[in-house]
Amino acid sequence: MADNASELLRRYLEQRRDSGEREFILDSMTVEDVMRIVGARATAPAAAPVERVPDPPVERADEAAPLDVGPSIVVGKVGADLFGGPFASLNTLEAVAAHATACKRCALWSTATNCVPGEGSPNAQLVCVGEAPGEQEDLSGRPFFGKAGQLLTKILAAIDLKREDVFICNVLKHRPPGNRNPLPDEVTACSPYLVRQIELIRPRVILAFGTFAAQTLLETKLSIGKLRGTVHRYYGVPLIVTYHPAALLRNPAWKRPTWDDVQHARRLLDRAGDGA
Ligand code: URA
Repeated sequence: MADNASELLRRYLEQRRDSGEREFILDSMTVEDVMRIVGARATAPAAAPVERVPDPPVERADEAAPLDVGPSIVVGKVGADLFGGPFASLNTLEAVAAHATACKRCALWSTATNCVPGEGSPNAQLVCVGEAPGEQEDLSGRPFFGKAGQLLTKILAAIDLKREDVFICNVLKHRPPGNRNPLPDEVTACSPYLVRQIELIRPRVILAFGTFAAQTLLETKLSIGKLRGTVHRYYGVPLIVTYHPAALLRNPAWKRPTWDDVQHARRLLDRAGDGA
């Protein structure tokens, strides 16, 4: 009977995998996860035939998980102006974008096709930060526009957010040639734009995707493994670190921990108030 239930679940997951929006979640779940969620045991005889399979994502979303479990990094003081630096006079996200588009503070403007300042809601409660534009982003002028971007859209959908509800941007606003790693001088030149964007938006939560964004924002060299699983603070704003969507495309096994991380972010948003 248990085998029969497993088989039913396996088929259910296969079907739902094709349904698109929930793909990210379902990819990260195993039959055993679902069996655990519905209170069944793969090895125990089932009391009754399985009539329907509950929606696994909703069940997982309700699971209580501890917050603030690891050492956390605090950057800046709560309520302090983030930097009052060179871009303090840029008072809107449009002004930041226009400034970045004309920027020659490093040489990346000369090899890039378009500037990719970021996009989304000026009232976003969640800011997603990646590394730097890739080829598709460079061609379109939009952040997370390629395959990794499609996965990011699914990740957001998994926590009931649309791209337009949040603000999506990168540490660097111009593409490094051939997608090479950003250089320290480029980060120094460009990060005031990111800082100003965060200052203007004042989100409830920041989600740093990948080692580079996490290390830059948190001013640390700690590995992503050490930075995940706790709530850091960036000028008082809770900051969660997770894997970069491009890394998930290479290593699907990281989807599962990413799912935990984004659920963590979702819970912080829910606690903070109205949630989007
Ligand atoms: N990778 C990033 O870090 N940012 C993008 O916008 C696209 C890919």
